[in-house]
Amino acid sequence: MKICTQCILPETFPGISFSTGGLCSQCQKFDARETKLSEDKKKYEQKFLDLLDNLGMRTKHTPSTVDHYTYDILMAYSGGKDSTYTMSLLKKKYHLKVLAVSFDNGFLSPAAVENIKNVTDNLAIDHVYFKPQWDLLKKIFLAAAERELYSKKTLERASTICTSCIGLVKSLCLKMAVEQNIPMIGFGWSPGQAPIESSIMKNNPSLVRMAQQVILKPLREIAGDVIGAYFLQQKHYESAEQFPYNVHPMAWEYYNEEMIVHDIQKLGWTAPKDTDSNSSNCLLNAYANDIHLKRYQFHPYVWEIANMVREGVMTRDEGYAKIYGEQDKNLINAAKKKLET
Ligand SMILES: [Zn+2]
Repeated sequence: MKICTQCILPETFPGISFSTGGLCSQCQKFDARETKLSEDKKKYEQKFLDLLDNLGMRTKHTPSTVDHYTYDILMAYSGGKDSTYTMSLLKKKYHLKVLAVSFDNGFLSPAAVENIKNVTDNLAIDHVYFKPQWDLLKKIFLAAAERELYSKKTLERASTICTSCIGLVKSLCLKMAVEQNIPMIGFGWSPGQAPIESSIMKNNPSLVRMAQQVILKPLREIAGDVIGAYFLQQKHYESAEQFPYNVHPMAWEYYNEEMIVHDIQKLGWTAPKDTDSNSSNCLLNAYANDIHLKRYQFHPYVWEIANMVREGVMTRDEGYAKIYGEQDKNLINAAKKKLET
């Protein structure tokens, strides 16, 4: 199989082509973006500080004397390394009052549960678990294991199982933030997962409605009307001016996997040994990846990892090992078994 000599995108990736030198079409488009990216990073960090200022929060230099909000930001906290690092920045660098929310999909690694406890305690952050009823999650995961539920574009970026879970996480976080009047939602997207242009964005009601339908429609067919509880209702749209901003600070912060792991270890975080190489919290991920790989002949993380290799935040060897390394059969079988019994 042909694999790009610069990033690691394979010839099986949708819409890709290669130069005679073996460079993929994404890499050919990329040149000279690096200088722009470092300028953008400064711009977006300033944009974030301005937003904190506008929302009346304490900024780096001037602690606010008024408490406008019970919580400044709701953090979508998976317990993985990226969201742990993001949350530590929100608390320690930007001095925000954080409410951490974790989604228990039934496949949280015990090591991740321990990490969640240690990190939230060490950072003095309030924390909530949301665990949907198991029979419902099981129905969704089994259906996603059997067939594609979403669009072609979506499947280029993540497995169907992952997209279902993340869709529920995003929706629940938005719903909670609106209901509790929390003006921002934090996500730990890596620089390869989401572009810097989307790193600070106010939720727009009509876009939210569209994004919700994309997930809600197929999930309702699988699980019935009970799924409605996890999505926004008409009353939420009526207070649309209170919709929070979505922020993913790692887009403008310095990113290096080794540095991140080193940093969060000081908070009592340890790398789980029971997850696959692309997750530091979820025991379903290996199975979800395996299904995707067999269905489409490319790894669901390859887009994200290739972006990071291209942008120089990860070496090609590290990226290659994550995507083309040996799959852990035991992990795959354990997840499959749990879903099928
Ligand atoms: Zn490439």
